[in-house]
Parts: sequence; structure tokens; C-alpha cells
Amino acid sequence: MDFEMLGLAPRLIAKLAENGIQKPTPIQSQAIPHAMNGRDVMGLAQTGTGKTAAFGLPLIHTLSTDGSTAGPKTVRGLVLAPTRELAKQISDSLRDWTKGSHLKVGLVVGGTSINAQIQRLARGTDLLIATPGRLIDLLDRKALTLNDTRFLVLDEADQMLDLGFIHALRRISTLLPAERQTMLFSATMPKQMADLSQTFLNKPVRVEV
Ligand code: AMP
Repeated sequence: MDFEMLGLAPRLIAKLAENGIQKPTPIQSQAIPHAMNGRDVMGLAQTGTGKTAAFGLPLIHTLSTDGSTAGPKTVRGLVLAPTRELAKQISDSLRDWTKGSHLKVGLVVGGTSINAQIQRLARGTDLLIATPGRLIDLLDRKALTLNDTRFLVLDEADQMLDLGFIHALRRISTLLPAERQTMLFSATMPKQMADLSQTFLNKPVRVEV
């Protein structure tokens, strides 16, 4: 199995090779084909398995080949992560993989200037990585809208539940279009996750490593 067989664009594959990523990991081989087909994905995977690329590559592929651009204050793809550190790591990877493309990658987390984030969001964002708390704050300030967000990723969803983000997540779910593709990744599947996946996922394919 290689990235060509998974259907990724040659330009993206070349970019990955520059970053030392040449052969898909098991979670990538399993998740990417379904994600490229537009299916919702529920992924059971730990950190270190390559799950960032499992959701990030199909997202980048789709956003860079569908011919759309982000209008002011809109977000085309949203990735939610439990902590600032994880959100920063995801955004660093996605920035590396989109370097040289027209895609605008944004990061909104607490602990940094909200005004700078409001200004950047005003210009529109193709791929936004956010922690739920700061995202709610920015939504309350009308700094962005999720009306055009057709792609959603919940990364380390079990951690988000543990950190008490359930109400934030439920509120965010009411602001997203029903017509969208969602991928949820988690290292564990506690009972509460079944309710969360019911809220967010539509006939998901389950992949596990
Ligand atoms: P993650 O599980 O997403 O946190 O990724 C763990 C590490 O593996 C990161 O440093 C990635 O850049 C790297 N990585 C992801 N996919 C691959 C791959 N297919 N081949 C080699 N390294 C990879």
C-alpha cells in the first residue's frame, strides 16, 4: 500500500516525502480511502500512530482540489483538539503539508492574543485548528461563522470529554451544517463516547489499530 494507491494528489505526496513520510501507517491505510470517499470515520488510535495524517491528508486533498476558497469569517474545515499543545502540533503538521498551496491554516487556542485571532479569522480560513473553549469565545464575539464548515475532525475526543468540553462540543454541533463530513479519533471508547458519536457522526466507518 502506498499514498498513490490511496488517491492523494501527486503534489501532496511529494510534500510528504520532503517531510520523511513515504509509506502509510496502518491507521492511514485504513482511514484515508473512506475519508476520500466522503464517509464519516470513527478512528480508535493512540498518539504516535500517524492519526494526524490519517485525517489531515484527506482533508488537505479535498480542500485543495474542490475549487472553493474561504469567504470572510468562514472556515471550510475545523479540527478540534483538547489542549493548546496538541492543537499547535496539529497546526504545525498541517502547515508543513500545505506549504506552497493556497490553503490558509489557522490556529485558535487560549493564552494568546484574541484580537490577533479575530483579525486573521476575518479574512477566512480553509483549515482551522482550535480548542473548544477559545472557539466558543470567538463564536460569541461573532469573529467567525461555521455555516460553511463542511469538514469536522474531533481529535482525542476522549480527552475532550475528560476535560469537560461536552457542553462546548454540543453547542458547536448546533452551529455546524448538518451536511458535512466528520471524523472522530479517540484512544478509548467510554460509554459517553457513544452519545458523542451519535451527535456528530453519520453512519461512520469504524477503523482501529
Ligand atoms: P501522530 O500519531 O499523528 O502524532 O504522528 C506521530 C509522528 O509520526 C509524527 O511525527 C508524524 O510526522 C510521523 N508520521 C506520520 N505518518 C507517518 C508515515 N506514514 N511515515 C512516517 N512517519 C509518519
